[in-house]
Amino acid sequence: MKRLAKPNYDFGDVIDLCIDGIANTQSIKMRITTNKVNLLLDANLYDSAINQGVIYTYSPLIRFHDKMCIRSTKDDYEKLYTQYFVPTAKKTRVIYDEILTSAKGDCPFCGGIGDPTNLDHFLPKAEYPQFSIYPSNLVPSCRDCNMGAKKVGYAKSAEEQTIHPYLDKQIFFEEQWITADYIADSNLDQPGEFRYYVNAPSNWTDIDKARVEKYFDDFKLASRYAKQATSSLKSKLRSIKRELDRGSSIQEIIDDVIQPDIDGAPFVNYWEVGMCDALINYLHSEQRKIKNISLDFCV
Ligand SMILES: [Zn+2]
Repeated sequence: MKRLAKPNYDFGDVIDLCIDGIANTQSIKMRITTNKVNLLLDANLYDSAINQGVIYTYSPLIRFHDKMCIRSTKDDYEKLYTQYFVPTAKKTRVIYDEILTSAKGDCPFCGGIGDPTNLDHFLPKAEYPQFSIYPSNLVPSCRDCNMGAKKVGYAKSAEEQTIHPYLDKQIFFEEQWITADYIADSNLDQPGEFRYYVNAPSNWTDIDKARVEKYFDDFKLASRYAKQATSSLKSKLRSIKRELDRGSSIQEIIDDVIQPDIDGAPFVNYWEVGMCDALINYLHSEQRKIKNISLDFCV
């Protein structure tokens, strides 16, 4: 889970640029122009509702501003995105690409496990068409995150709300809620495994705790983070072994080999932080055994 800066665009300008790309002969052009004021009003509510964790109260379509002709207006807004915002020939494509590259190759939902390949509608455009081209609702996402968790739709309760990478509460990004244990192989001649889990701060509300639990499950972070950690375990164990051979103490190994990775992590719930937590706990708890490990498997 990685914080991204909110895209810095004036929504009115984005709508105008999009309208500019519609031929005068298209009747959708007039309808969108007429509805611009409603789009701006809806968007005004979006950011604070996400930040306050109440976006789930926005019933899809029921809250929709144009109840008289929901279907046609919904179609207009979906088309606005697919036909007039995304195509490479349109001026708005620059905005699409800028938002995508703002992630710098790290999908914010899985915290950089995947590479963002497209923009995800945080509130799906099928249910919330009025946000189809609203930059705050367009979030870079890797394929796994987009096809997995985000496919399930939208929150119907406070607990179900996905954490929003641009707008959600700081605590989700600044306080650690993901950690892991390391379970060594019983024969100590094979690499062990990592078990990631949620350990939210005890002073959080029950709703916030439920949200991170759900988020962790939805995005399958336990298995995705464990896979990442396992792939870098051998090199970490090699460094530990080298220090043991030199006669370093467990505390010296933690300070010199593991703690620097925690300190250098790009954010607090990065997969590597959990891996380091797990190895530190393991080294502390198994001091006697570890001194006798051959660690042959990591040579
Ligand atoms: Zn992802």
